[in-house]
Amino acid sequence: MKIAEIAKRTTEFVVYVHDFYGPEGIYPMGATIRTICDATQTLLESVEDWKEIQFDSLDRERVRDIMIHEHGLVFPGEGHQSMFVNHYKCYKCGKTWTDTYECQVDDDCPHCGARHCTPEHSEDCPMRYQVVVGNIGTVTDTNNPVDARRDYGEYKRQSESGYGRAGGETVTLFKDGEIDLEHIGSNDIEDEDGLADNS
Ligand SMILES: [Zn+2]
Repeated sequence: MKIAEIAKRTTEFVVYVHDFYGPEGIYPMGATIRTICDATQTLLESVEDWKEIQFDSLDRERVRDIMIHEHGLVFPGEGHQSMFVNHYKCYKCGKTWTDTYECQVDDDCPHCGARHCTPEHSEDCPMRYQVVVGNIGTVTDTNNPVDARRDYGEYKRQSESGYGRAGGETVTLFKDGEIDLEHIGSNDIEDEDGLADNS
């Protein structure tokens, strides 16, 4: 596929996703074109050979999940519902995993990519989520993963912007005391290189 064709198809895909998740979308979660582009790029980067990209099979729900997990967007109406921990076993490769959703939904296997694995069982979310920002400490302590991810995304953006109290700080989302997501802030990266800390 030629570069121009890839650019055209990517643009069409971003507009298509925006129709679903943009401010006026079918599922309005406030996704901006910019955020969708970033999330689409993350998705495209997960494709091993870009020449093999099949735009028809690009999955808007994977972009949605990237926006929820990495950009802190919240699916409409789900901010304060109870959550489920779904336990999956892949019908194809037999491996197991768990994931947290608002309902007992099918999931794609993170090991082999098999589509639509059905949860073997589900339980109410007993997890505790904490967001910790380097120099501030714990900023969120909740049992709602959507709230926690939203706050994590918000502080991650502040860290990346370099301004404010969280600027350049490392942001960590803990799930039951274990690291679920982590953004290493530029302050800490520079420390490792021995470039910062002139203060
Ligand atoms: Zn599998």
